[in-house]
Amino acid sequence: MIQVDKALELIESSTFRMEPTMVALNNAAGMALAFDIYSPINMPPFRNSAMDGYAVILNGRSSYRLNTELKAGDKIQLKPGEATRVFTGAAVPENADTVIMQEWAQPNSDTVEFIKKPKKYANIRKEGEQLKAGELVFKRGTVLNEAAIGLLAGLGISSVEVYANPKVGILVTGNELQQPGGPLQPGCIYESNALMLEVALKKAGVHKIHTYRVKDDLKSTTQKINEALQENDLLLISGGISVGDYDFVKLALESNRVKEVFYRVKQKPGKPLWFGKKDQKIVFALPGNPASSLSCFYVYVLPALKKMTGKPFKINYKIAISAEKITKPLGKTLFQKAIVENGKLSVLKGQSSSMLHSFALSNALACVPENKEEIPENGEVEYIELNL
Ligand code: AMP
Ligand code: MG
Repeated sequence: MIQVDKALELIESSTFRMEPTMVALNNAAGMALAFDIYSPINMPPFRNSAMDGYAVILNGRSSYRLNTELKAGDKIQLKPGEATRVFTGAAVPENADTVIMQEWAQPNSDTVEFIKKPKKYANIRKEGEQLKAGELVFKRGTVLNEAAIGLLAGLGISSVEVYANPKVGILVTGNELQQPGGPLQPGCIYESNALMLEVALKKAGVHKIHTYRVKDDLKSTTQKINEALQENDLLLISGGISVGDYDFVKLALESNRVKEVFYRVKQKPGKPLWFGKKDQKIVFALPGNPASSLSCFYVYVLPALKKMTGKPFKINYKIAISAEKITKPLGKTLFQKAIVENGKLSVLKGQSSSMLHSFALSNALACVPENKEEIPENGEVEYIELNL
């Protein structure tokens, strides 16, 4: 049995990053760059106007001759004392130094009067003022958000190399499990972990998910694990990892030469968590109890997924003030479904590892470390933010 921190350390050191892959820019949101990106062009690519107005070579006067001949995009030159109409984003004449906004202008047929005088160089965006050609735009590891996608599109980039999305298998075990759709048979429960884990994975940006189901039987569990390992980069197994007579997952993993990295963690819920690896693939055998399974997903599987996809392996613990005293035995980390509101954390009723109702209503998973026996009322408590 190991501590939570040790378990996380072992997962981090056993998890491989996915290979870089080229994806179209519209599919790259949320992914991490596998290489630095340098700008292929100056941004903006030419000197342009930041306003609708008139480009001029600024002089002391308030009246300019209107030049209506000049066309944007030409290598255009103004004569001294001339103004020409320009619009936001359009090229300004090469020798213009200032754009005067149209709100300050009173145009006549062949002259324009300005009621205010701007500062020299006003309203002109310089070529390359945001980025110069060849300049570093984003470092490797940058996670692309919508602004990054927009910027790269504006630089003429249509595809990027990112760390690939892993294929994830979900293998569900349990004789008592029944698929929804018919009346519940005696002694059976509806199977829920597969769907829960699938949507949690999708929320984490994983799209290639395959679900396998197996009875509590060593031979078929061994075969399914073999199949799932061939088809996926990461395998999540649900149930069958405790010490009951029908728990065959550990043996089946050994038969498949998946090397155990650790088994059992000093935590509640989720004690029977098993983690192992085979070549570059990793396997989490999650406890079957739904709330344990989900808790282990947030604490262990999510950071591993982050590392696989080129992001930092870390849990973003936040700190809140506990609305009440939380007590627990020493030597075990306690994860509690909770609500955080205005910086105050309240633990919800119904913390049993089989109960998802409290999880469904929570927005935080409070984490009380193993070396603490209690968090006093108004004491600081760490938590993982959920439902982001
Ligand atoms: P196990 O870890 O297989 O011993 O399962 C522990 C508890 O979780 C048992 O009460 C199971 O019925 C329940 N359980 C296991 N797998 C699932 C599942 N996929 N969906 C819902 N409940 C499950
Ligand atoms: Mg079971």
